[in-house]
Amino acid sequence: MCGIVGYVGGKNAQDFLISGLKRLEYRGYDSAGIITMDEEGKDTLIKAKGKISELEERLAKNKRDDKAGIGHTRWATHGEPSEANAHPHQAGDIFLVHNGIIENYKELKAQLKNAEFKSETDSEVLAKLIESFYHDGRYPLTNAVVQALKLVKGTYGIAVISRKNPEEIVVARLGSPLVIGIGHDETLVASDASALVGHTKRAIYLNDGEVATITRNSVEIKTLNAEPVSAKVEEIETNLSAIQKNGYEHFLLKEIMEQPESLIETLRGRVNLHEGTVKLGGPGLSETELRKIKHLIIVGCGTAYNAGVLAGYYIEQFTPEITIETVIASEYRYRQAYIPEDSVALIVSQSGETADTLACLREIKKKGIKTIGIVNTIGSTIAREVDGGTYVHVGPEISVASTKAFTSQVIAMVMFGLTIAQAKGVKKTVLQPYVKEIAKLPEEVRNVLELVHEDVKKIANKYKDYDHAIYLGRDTAYPTAIEGALKLKEISYVDANAYAFGELKHGPLALIDDRFFEIALIPKGELYEKAVSNVQEVLARNGKVIAVTNDDKFDLSVADVIRIQTSLEILTPLLMNLVSQLFAYYMTVAKGNNVDQPRNLAKSVTVE
Ligand code: GLU
Repeated sequence: MCGIVGYVGGKNAQDFLISGLKRLEYRGYDSAGIITMDEEGKDTLIKAKGKISELEERLAKNKRDDKAGIGHTRWATHGEPSEANAHPHQAGDIFLVHNGIIENYKELKAQLKNAEFKSETDSEVLAKLIESFYHDGRYPLTNAVVQALKLVKGTYGIAVISRKNPEEIVVARLGSPLVIGIGHDETLVASDASALVGHTKRAIYLNDGEVATITRNSVEIKTLNAEPVSAKVEEIETNLSAIQKNGYEHFLLKEIMEQPESLIETLRGRVNLHEGTVKLGGPGLSETELRKIKHLIIVGCGTAYNAGVLAGYYIEQFTPEITIETVIASEYRYRQAYIPEDSVALIVSQSGETADTLACLREIKKKGIKTIGIVNTIGSTIAREVDGGTYVHVGPEISVASTKAFTSQVIAMVMFGLTIAQAKGVKKTVLQPYVKEIAKLPEEVRNVLELVHEDVKKIANKYKDYDHAIYLGRDTAYPTAIEGALKLKEISYVDANAYAFGELKHGPLALIDDRFFEIALIPKGELYEKAVSNVQEVLARNGKVIAVTNDDKFDLSVADVIRIQTSLEILTPLLMNLVSQLFAYYMTVAKGNNVDQPRNLAKSVTVE
């Protein structure tokens, strides 16, 4: 959440800051601001409420050729989105941008007796606190930042610049990501490597508890306890086309449509169809360790949690003597849950920065349990802190609503489950059907996306005036229903909830009336007839049902049917989820909402 950028070098700082903020806009978009300085420290501060385009308009009237500066796109936690609350925040000669939450800001504010505050933010308190150590020259900027951070409780990624020395930026992090880009005669800062793409391929990922002092040709990193850190320079793998819309109107549609390719990347080198096996290099568990696993804890938030529930349903189908518990990270981190010895935890996060998931990872590690990351963003904090991991390799996911990451997270986890089952000696005849379907999935996804697209668009338009929806499914179609409902609510703002079909008569059936429509996911299989009976119960109460099925013989007179043609039997729910993704997309377009940046949300949730 929130985008941070910084620049010091020989080029125009405003240009980099604004282009960087545009790339990071998906991380927060309620207000934005940049401060740049010339060599004498003369500053130009521009802020605007709303999107980066608003800031850009103001910038056009304030063009400067300054060579250093910092910028921010905000996702408000303390104080409404407004110009006053937008970052950078000023305190005397210094300016600060901040991502995260200063939990003890009220106490700190009370201690800063002479300070005047212009905003309601916790971040301004930190700016004033740093300034209180800096203003009389007692401390150089880096030391003033360190002194202040030692008093702070909470999370932060910050960048600070001073009018007294505009050739230097100080950055620090605890719980919020920060990347330093090393260019030729320039150094860049961003909260996400995507802002650096096209400028440099060399990056240093700051760790929690580290502070870096940056000039155009130097980076000096220390811990808060003043121990020097030798930085590791890593390569940024993302390329420009991966972060552009490439002809699509929205990132969301692009990301839905590129699932055949993103799945191929997830599977690359990991599936041996000939032998009917999978092989994951990343988790780094020996055969003996894999054989010993008796419990799997899957930790995630939002879509990653839903992916974990679905993967859990699959893994328990073919892995004997194993219990699987999928948990919501923000709950689990505060539970007193007992974790038995022979457990492994799967830590699922697209960004690899999700605050609650990261906190769980640390708690679980403390208990001596092995942690395996199911992460997309290379070099992210979770990816670096887990004991082993499997990258899903779907490329940057920029739309706030997660689509391609979900599909690949499920598959990566199922492959991990297969790895356990193989080690435990489960018969090939049991595992092979899964391996075969995984290998076929990219092609099947391509077909379904093509074949259902127009139908889904038409049907979504038909329902565009509805504000209530119910998603229904059984077995693996149930977690799929949960994910479908989440997609619809997060971008189209429809009050969508999911229920297991069997639960209907225990309460939700009371909701059925003409304000609602129901999306029923009905894959062929053992529970098909039961799901059909449940649909009948809804129809008997005048429900308006959209059935999604791969059964040609489905003949109930529901309001609409979306038929899926597939040779898959096990992974059909993942194909049905494509329908949910497209449905949410077209309903959102029809409602006229912002598809990629839904209200109140942001990508990469780095606050609790
Ligand atoms: N807590 C800060 C604020 O509300 C920073 C929020 C953010 O990460 O964008 O301004």
